[in-house]
Amino acid sequence: MKKHNFSAGPCVLPQEVFLKASEAIMDFNESGLSLIEISHRSKDFVEVMEKARSLALELLGLEGKGYSALFLQGGASMQFLMTAYNLLENKAGYLNTGTWSEKAIKEAKMFGDIMEVGSSKDENFNYIPKGYAIPEGLDYLHLTSNNTIFGTQIKKFPKTNVPLVCDMSSDIFSRQLDFTQFDLIYAGAQKNMGPAGTTLVVVKDDILGKVSRKIPSMLDYQVHISKDSMFNTPPVFAVYTSMLTLEWLKDLGGIAAIEEINEKKAQLLYSEIDLNPVFQGFAKKEDRSNMNATFNLADDRLKETFDALWKEAGINGINGHRSVGGYRASMYNALSLESVGVLVDVMSEMERKG
Ligand code: PMP
Repeated sequence: MKKHNFSAGPCVLPQEVFLKASEAIMDFNESGLSLIEISHRSKDFVEVMEKARSLALELLGLEGKGYSALFLQGGASMQFLMTAYNLLENKAGYLNTGTWSEKAIKEAKMFGDIMEVGSSKDENFNYIPKGYAIPEGLDYLHLTSNNTIFGTQIKKFPKTNVPLVCDMSSDIFSRQLDFTQFDLIYAGAQKNMGPAGTTLVVVKDDILGKVSRKIPSMLDYQVHISKDSMFNTPPVFAVYTSMLTLEWLKDLGGIAAIEEINEKKAQLLYSEIDLNPVFQGFAKKEDRSNMNATFNLADDRLKETFDALWKEAGINGINGHRSVGGYRASMYNALSLESVGVLVDVMSEMERKG
C-alpha cells in the first residue's frame, strides 16, 4: 500500500510522474534505449532540457522577461557559495531565518562582508523578522522564503532597490508571487520539483558579470547560460523527472491551482493543531509555513501512543528535525488533501484517547 508521505525531502512526487519516469528508465520515447543510457547531446534529451527550462520560466511567469533557467548540480548548498561567488563584490545582506540561512551566510562570508539585516535566532527561529532596515548599496539581499526545519514562511517580501536573491528550495511552485521581484531564485529539486540531483536556478541575466573576481567555469552562471545548461553532462534523470513534474503542474492549472489545494491542506492541519489540546504549534501563527507544519505534543508521555497510531495509519516522515524536536508534517505540492485528512483523523483520535 502506498504510504501517506509527509517527508521533508526528498519527498512525495505525483504518482503519474513516478510511473512515467520509471517507463523512461526502461524505454525512453519508444527508442529501445533507456533515458539513462543515451547521450545528453542527443536530440531527445536536448528537448527534455529545453522543455524543463522553459516550463520553469513559464510557470513562474518569467518567460521573455530577461531571465534564464538552469538545472545545475551540487544541491541548494552549492548555491550558497555560487550566489556569492557571482554577485558579491563588497557587501551583502542576509535575513537569518534558520539553519539554511546560516549555512548560506557562512559560505558567503568567504567572499565579502555580510550583514545580518535581521534574525529570529533569539526564539529558535519560530518567526520571521519584520520591519528590518535594508541599507542602500548592498550587492544583494538574500532571503530564505520557506524555512523547512522550523516551519516558517515569508508571507510579505521587502520592497527594496537592492537585488533580491531567494532560496526557495522548499516552497517553489507552491504559491503565487510576483516572481519578477527576485533577481535570482534557487531551489533544490527534491521537494516540489523532482528527485535529488539537480537544482533549479532562475537568474536575471543583467545582474551577472559585475564582480571583479575570476570565476571558475563550473561556478559561473554566465558559462552555464551560454551553454544552455549543458556545459557538462547534466543529471539527466533528475532533469527529466523535474520536467514531468512541471508538466503535471501545468496540466493541473499551474501555480494558481496548486496554491488553492495547498491552502486547503494547510488550513485543515493547522486548525487541528490549534483546536486539539493534545498538540501545540511551533511556529508563530502569522509566519507559519503552508509547506512544513511543525508541532509538538503538549505532554511528551503521549509520544509512544501517537507514534504507534500514525504508523498504523500508513503515515511516513512526520518526525521533527533534531534541532526542533516534536513533529513536522511536510505538505508539498504532490501530497494529497486526503493524506492530510488521514493525519488529522489520527490527531483527533489522540484527543479522544486524551
Ligand atoms: N535550503 C533549504 C530551504 C532547504 O530546505 C535545503 C534542504 N532541505 C537546502 C537549502 C539544502 O539543500 P541541498 O541538500 O539540496 O543542498
